[in-house]
Amino acid sequence: MSVPRFWRRLKNLYNLIGTQCKKCGEYHYPPRTICPKCRRSSLIVPYKFKGLGEVLTYTIVHSAAKDYAKHTPYILAIIRLDEGPSLTSQVICDHADIHIGMKVKSTFRKLGEESEKGMIYYGTKFVPLATPPRKD
Ligand SMILES: [Zn+2]
Repeated sequence: MSVPRFWRRLKNLYNLIGTQCKKCGEYHYPPRTICPKCRRSSLIVPYKFKGLGEVLTYTIVHSAAKDYAKHTPYILAIIRLDEGPSLTSQVICDHADIHIGMKVKSTFRKLGEESEKGMIYYGTKFVPLATPPRKD
């Protein structure tokens, strides 16, 4: 991937920037220029997602393209953000803990650290939300 394209992608992925239609209130990720509901009367503004969501489904990837092979196995999940849109992202947690409905939050690591380990192009990863204190 070329450097300029990389940075353009990073702006959206790393910061979870999408859009909201002020007319109907719907959130979009990735960003849209036209709201699918409102079309010509769309009122699109940029929106930074809070990064909280829930695992809709997931898969544990055991084999990956050459560049990612050293990271396998890893968890790839479809996450529904609290605001509504879904996205595919890596989830960093114990493979025994991942489950459908798990609450997750996005994590933004320093660019330098990430690039040393690879996977930088996916920028945003998710981790489990801190488990609430036990009641017993
Ligand atoms: Zn709309």
